Amino acid sequence: MKVNTAEFIISNSDVSKCPLDRLPEYAFIGRSNVGKSSLINMLTNHKNLAKTSARPGKTQLINHFKINNNWFLVDLPGYGYARVSKKTKEVFQKFITDYFEKREQLVCAFILIDIRHEAQKIDLEFINYLGEIEVPFCIIFTKADKISRVKIDQSIASYRKSLLANNWEEMPPHFVTSSLEATGRDAVLEYIDSVNQE
Ligand code: GDP
Repeated sequence: MKVNTAEFIISNSDVSKCPLDRLPEYAFIGRSNVGKSSLINMLTNHKNLAKTSARPGKTQLINHFKINNNWFLVDLPGYGYARVSKKTKEVFQKFITDYFEKREQLVCAFILIDIRHEAQKIDLEFINYLGEIEVPFCIIFTKADKISRVKIDQSIASYRKSLLANNWEEMPPHFVTSSLEATGRDAVLEYIDSVNQE
């Protein structure tokens, strides 16, 4: 898929105020600092569509971007950042769980995982939560430029093991990306295109 247009539409923290369009929606979420903003900018070919931030945990909104007038890319707040206190933030904030539980247009969630790290509890919790509410998801491994090809394969195998240990039967569709080297872009966009064609 070629991204011809990528337009910011609205930010909010209330699922009922998300756009009324019936376009299919793909949500991007992950731990703060996982490389989500960089990935969104890479996918859309924009330098600064999603704001990369020096202060992780800053973006606390649901951001809708309309792509090619034909689907929404939804940038969700990063989770699991210690600087945001538990009081202001349950493990997954209510407006995020509301989004996943109520947004009918949501087709698939992309969970971003830093390829260098072993499976983290909070990511597995989130994956298990999506399983419970039956939201389809994919995994996007980020920052692949930071490790060797061999290590990439080892990380994926180890992630698969962690999912099986959490009672998943198989790895979901997954993508290896580097925003620095602009790799994995076509695979993610083609996946979205193929699901949109279904
Ligand atoms: P976010 O908090 O998830 O939106 O993460 P950002 O996109 O702001 O990135 C967090 C940090 O990781 C920044 O210092 C980025 O430059 C760096 N980063 C993001 N993606 C990559 C990548 O693919 N490769 C490398 N080497 N660094 C990355």
